[in-house]
Amino acid sequence: MKIRIEKAQCTGNARCHAVAEHLYPLDDEGYIAITGFDVPPGQESLARRGARACPERIIFVEDDKA
Ligand code: SF4
Repeated sequence: MKIRIEKAQCTGNARCHAVAEHLYPLDDEGYIAITGFDVPPGQESLARRGARACPERIIFVEDDKA
């Protein structure tokens, strides 16, 4: 499972970071610092919660097609 983030549209409200700060790091100005990541095993529900927390709806969950 992967997370993709439309970083350029981030408004820096840090909702994702509040849910999972280690998955959703912020830059020095409080915007999301990354454009996505491979979700570590066991962190799927936390990653989904972080994605749902984004009011801008710019965090996308991409399930692996097995
Ligand atoms: S919740 Fe969305 S808008 Fe807010 S910091 Fe995270 S990615 Fe950016």
